[in-house]
Amino acid sequence: MVPVGAIVLGPDGRELSAATNRREADGDPFAHAEVLALRAAARELGDGWRLEDCTLVVTLEPCTMCAGAAVASRVGHIVFGAWEPKTGACGSLWDVVRDRRLTHRPEVRGGVLETANQAQGIKLCQRIEGAGLDGGLHAHGGGVIDGDHDREAGCQVPRLPTERP
Ligand SMILES: [Zn+2]
Repeated sequence: MVPVGAIVLGPDGRELSAATNRREADGDPFAHAEVLALRAAARELGDGWRLEDCTLVVTLEPCTMCAGAAVASRVGHIVFGAWEPKTGACGSLWDVVRDRRLTHRPEVRGGVLETANQAQGIKLCQRIEGAGLDGGLHAHGGGVIDGDHDREAGCQVPRLPTERP
């Protein structure tokens, strides 16, 4: 089982919550890292249930349940490290969060280690390594959602580029 870790950053970039998948540990089918982190973030933010302008950062592309939870919490941005073509609902198998029929559609960025969200990806990567979880965050060849998802093992922290493209 690939360990999944998620954090939620507030509008000011402050880390509101962090969670790992507790489905097995708790015997709870809904205890995915994203759901736990979003719930804890709402409590921490203390401003009702909405997480507008907050960012969900997660190692793997969220599943349908977690994509739905992200929409329901009105999270502003979703950033994830690796594509999950078998269950992913943020551009791989489905694209739940950007369905045009929804009134709230979070901005999505996949392949964080190669994109402008690099800093967030690195932060998450370091947190996960610190927690003794490895293999949860994989480098991806780019931020474009295109269905061509190569994977590499391990948690790779890239050097920061000297120039932005
Ligand atoms: Zn999930």
